[in-house]
Amino acid sequence: MSDLFLFDLDDRYNEIDDIFSEFGAISCAKKDYEKRDGQVAMSKLVYESLNNNEIAVIEAGTGIGKSFAYLVPAFLYAEKTEERIVISTHTINLQNQLINKDILFIKEILNSNINPILVKGRRNYLCNLKLYNLQSELMFETNKELLDIDKWSKNTETGDIEELTFVPSDDIWDKVCSDKDFCLGRGCSFYKSCFVQRARKKIEESKILIVNHHILFSDIEMKSKNINFLPFYDKIIIDEAHNIEKSASSFFSYHFSKSGFYKFFSFYKSKSGLGLIPRLLYKMSKDIVLSDVYSFIDDKVISVFNEMFSNSFNVFDKIRGYLHFILNSVEYYDVNKGIQYRVKYDEWYSEEFNENFIKPLFELTNNIKEFLKIFGTMISMFNERVEGIDNEIKKKYEMDLKLLKGYYNKLKSYYENIIFLLQVNPDDYVIWFDIFSKKEDPLFTFNVAPIKIDLLLKEKVFDVFSSVIMTSATITVNNKFDYFFNMTGLSYVLKEGRNIIYDSFESPFNYKDQVLFVCPDDIPDVENSEEYNEKLNDFLKKTILSVGGSTFVLFTSYEQLKKSYNEVGPFLFDNGLKSYYQGGLNNQKMLELFKDDISSSLFGTDSFWEGVDAPGDTLRYVVLAKLPFRMPTNPIEEARVEYYKRKGLNPFMELSLPQAVIRFKQGFGRLIRTKNDYGVVALLDRRILYKSYSSVFINSIPKCTYFVGSCDEVANEISKYIKNKESMKK
Ligand code: SF4
Repeated sequence: MSDLFLFDLDDRYNEIDDIFSEFGAISCAKKDYEKRDGQVAMSKLVYESLNNNEIAVIEAGTGIGKSFAYLVPAFLYAEKTEERIVISTHTINLQNQLINKDILFIKEILNSNINPILVKGRRNYLCNLKLYNLQSELMFETNKELLDIDKWSKNTETGDIEELTFVPSDDIWDKVCSDKDFCLGRGCSFYKSCFVQRARKKIEESKILIVNHHILFSDIEMKSKNINFLPFYDKIIIDEAHNIEKSASSFFSYHFSKSGFYKFFSFYKSKSGLGLIPRLLYKMSKDIVLSDVYSFIDDKVISVFNEMFSNSFNVFDKIRGYLHFILNSVEYYDVNKGIQYRVKYDEWYSEEFNENFIKPLFELTNNIKEFLKIFGTMISMFNERVEGIDNEIKKKYEMDLKLLKGYYNKLKSYYENIIFLLQVNPDDYVIWFDIFSKKEDPLFTFNVAPIKIDLLLKEKVFDVFSSVIMTSATITVNNKFDYFFNMTGLSYVLKEGRNIIYDSFESPFNYKDQVLFVCPDDIPDVENSEEYNEKLNDFLKKTILSVGGSTFVLFTSYEQLKKSYNEVGPFLFDNGLKSYYQGGLNNQKMLELFKDDISSSLFGTDSFWEGVDAPGDTLRYVVLAKLPFRMPTNPIEEARVEYYKRKGLNPFMELSLPQAVIRFKQGFGRLIRTKNDYGVVALLDRRILYKSYSSVFINSIPKCTYFVGSCDEVANEISKYIKNKESMKK
């Protein structure tokens, strides 16, 4: 732990010991409460960081009760100073737990008058101005969803999508939801009754805001451009901080696609002749005083728009030619899965790429720029004309003018987005296509994402906010913070001499007693896929049956999951055990079914390695099919590996291994959620037994009971362990 300068710690800080003590406020309100020293220490650390304007990185092992450990000091500090604190999470599960459970509890025991608010992204709210734009269309509208939204809009108090009794399709909700590029803020005629503004008012009154990482980054980015979504705050607590790199990288990514282009411009004028411009023309056709504006739109605006559209066909034809060239160069193309194709440095600057992608897309942006210009001129002309005539006409078109301004802003931001994409430096950004659908006429999304986000985080977060507290159950690798510091840019912060508090609080659980960790030593190497799969499936059948279900089987690839499930699932079914696989049902639904039937099993990949809670008898056995190294073929991973090599670093040691260890810790952590849980974690990857890096994995998880032997011996040991534990329960 770094040197800690404690100063000015006050009475509120001193309350922490009492609150968490055996006879304190929490204990009085919670029957099964047990004091945990790690929780108290973490809570004090959080308060110190808030109070002393410091950055803190805190690893809190499972069972520490980290949400209470940061909520208590957050409440105390916000009450004392009236400063606002933003708490950010990665998953909705954690947000729900905080807002529906933990916060209510802490607020009550502290008798606090602070009302924490869950902040939702503005896209969750209905935009009255957009809905107004659709009014004339709604008369002839047959889409039930849109009609239902319109009906609901007349009664709703919040305009929150969550109130709807159905989930509207993205395309429909896009038409009516608030979005930042379009929003006119105070300039909007609906400003006073705006749902987003109403929500913001509540947000402004609150001293503790709960957000997700995406909203946090979005707000930080807007603030750097002097636009405010959230009110002023200077202190952030980031939970599930091991995901911060992923969230930031996804937030600072840019995308362009053909389907996105046509969808975007269909708002202005669709193929069938509907949209903003035709609607406006129709309305103006009856007002002679606006005939010059009408002619300008009919003549100039529409012709520039049409030119952009007809040019777009040539542009996308050229791009299609290039996509064919790409597809002909790959060995195998699966229409259903598509491919990711990375554009490397040399290709990015090659003549072919320039001729077939950059240049045509630049031509398209020139067309968009022309349209933007003429659209802007049209708005000014329209505005001037309306200003100069009688009040009735002015009133009639007031909203339309506002609407046009909103769509102008949206257009501008769309244009800037493409320009940014075309000018990125391949040394700093990874550039790739997602290509999918029919080979003859493939669809594509063109993407750019920052290769590293360390400097971005430093510049936009650590250099800006006075206290940033990051916590998670999985931060360290081999009990060291180096990977997290390097990944998040904290190493640069340290170099500049700013103090960073970091500490790790061990789980209070007795893992030696609660967990049997096993690894068969005769399972074939994972590369040896046929033999490996055969043995893996045999092992799964035997052991899941002996445990009686209650199993999570976690894979690193969906393909392997399906292969295994197709064989093991029917076998379990024949033996009276239900099983589910990711992709078969909606994840949430599947998890509920799994929890409802303690003898069922669940075969999952990515999303089940973390953030999934299944405490108690429902989960007794976790199988990790392989060590979770990320696929080196993923464009972002590939670019990062090259980046590390360029810098003279070892990408395996600096990147692949720590990432895999964090994931491994997450997967391992699914098993024990409470002090009464027990069970088995099986790793079906022999590399853990002989590779030089194996100790890094083993040192990174809590010490438990280990068993290594042949598949048969391991299966017997599992059966023995579970039987023994069950008999002790009786
Ligand atoms: S203020 Fe923005 S979000 Fe609200 S109604 Fe107007 S444009 Fe829509």
